Amino acid sequence: MKLDVNDIRYITSEEFRVLTAVEMGSKNHEVVPSSLITQISGLRNGGVNKHLGSLAKRNLIARVQNTKYDGYRLTYGGYDYLAMRALSKRNSIHSVGNQIGVGKESDIYVVADEEGKQMVLKLHRLGRTSFRTIKTNRDYMGKRKSASWMYMSRLGAQKEWAFMKILYEHGFPVPKPIDQARHCIVMELMDAFPLRQINEVASPGQLYSELMDLIVRFAHSGLIHGDFNEFNILIREDTGKAVVIDFPQMVSTSHENAEWYFNRDVECIRTFFRRRFRYESAIYPKFRSTLNEPGAGDFQLDVIVAASGFSKQEMKALEEYIESTRENEDGSDDEEESEEEDEDESVSEEDGETGGSEAADGSDRTDREEAAGDVSSSSIPQDLDEDPQVPRSSCPSPSDSLVRQTAALGLRTPSPPGKHPTHVSRPQPLAFDKTDSLKETVSAEVSKRRAREESKHHARRSTKRMGRARGSKAKQDTRVKADTSGFWD
Ligand code: ADP
Ligand code: MG
Repeated sequence: MKLDVNDIRYITSEEFRVLTAVEMGSKNHEVVPSSLITQISGLRNGGVNKHLGSLAKRNLIARVQNTKYDGYRLTYGGYDYLAMRALSKRNSIHSVGNQIGVGKESDIYVVADEEGKQMVLKLHRLGRTSFRTIKTNRDYMGKRKSASWMYMSRLGAQKEWAFMKILYEHGFPVPKPIDQARHCIVMELMDAFPLRQINEVASPGQLYSELMDLIVRFAHSGLIHGDFNEFNILIREDTGKAVVIDFPQMVSTSHENAEWYFNRDVECIRTFFRRRFRYESAIYPKFRSTLNEPGAGDFQLDVIVAASGFSKQEMKALEEYIESTRENEDGSDDEEESEEEDEDESVSEEDGETGGSEAADGSDRTDREEAAGDVSSSSIPQDLDEDPQVPRSSCPSPSDSLVRQTAALGLRTPSPPGKHPTHVSRPQPLAFDKTDSLKETVSAEVSKRRAREESKHHARRSTKRMGRARGSKAKQDTRVKADTSGFWD
């Protein structure tokens, strides 16, 4: 699908108001009735319909035809748009480059600020591959009929943000957290390989100890990573040291299943080292003795995070969700497979209008009872870019294909997972500034300089890499920097 980024940049202030009204209405409605959107937006009826049409055309919202009433739901693209607009207004990001990762539950892009400093944008996609699971596992949703991908994705980002900040402030090797909005996190771009791509290391024993020490250090601070594996451990190019990422599933050492999570983290590393490096050690940390060691309990980061505003209830909701998706996994950790599954569940562009069939079919409660309109809790906030506390029960949306999301965002078409783009279009600055006009992109001079630096850097790195991680090339190399080439063309 050809992207028309310019089109999406020029969203008018009225269209933006309508888009925000759909988001607000989603708080209580899986499908937001057009009448309610009009009410919340405070605009004239005729005008709103026109704006709804144009937003739907850009895939920021999708029309859903229900038996009782017609309405709209926010799409992934629309939610992405709102989050990125907020980040852009705060000057956290200015332009968006290539996609460097598609996880089961996130999309990762390289972004840059106005000075051209590259960072990572992680868009949480909880619920993307787990709609069936959500439907069968709704304890945390109480009486709600369906979980909300928006709500879960935002919780995932908020939790990850809270932990990343605390860990970074306490000197743990994690990327520097930069900003968070809705379901998105902006963080430092690490010049590093995922451990999974490393086939040889100079001293497996040393790396093994470093990783086990990290598990122990986490535990001494009251924390367990909960997904400490070769995908979430990056090895820095410059120092060869480990950097840990991906925190939505972190738990406290006082969690009822703490020991089980701890052992699983330890076991993941042992298994990986055995298989990949044929390295095995009789020495590995044990939960109880680790907690009794001197140094344990000096910091209680779990308590600090709990005090940071991420409520216990939210923590629980997210935890149950994550666990429920794990239970339903088929044991495969292959990221490509999750994409295929995603494709299976997505509906074609043409189906877009009825893409919310799940809501249309199964949403008898919220929609029909509340169709009359409950604007009281949905008034538009002063600053429209503020996150208006996302819905708990809006419609899970399996129909938003990745391409449509990225189109709506004004991002480049992502390359297939694990492949580098063969063609990179010109830079895609976001244009959410006060006038919503197109911002000047990076000057030709800067682009040239970057390209020169990049090629020098690449040459230097390939020499270094050949010496240090020989064999890693044989595997598919999806390292971050390689994908940013041409970012500034
Ligand atoms: P998920 O929750 O989908 O597993 P992750 O946070 O683990 O998402 O990120 C997925 C992949 O994106 C990682 O394996 C890594 O290759 C890349 N990545 C994520 N964050 C960064 C970062 N800060 N710097 C460099 N690469 C990153
Ligand atoms: Mg991960």
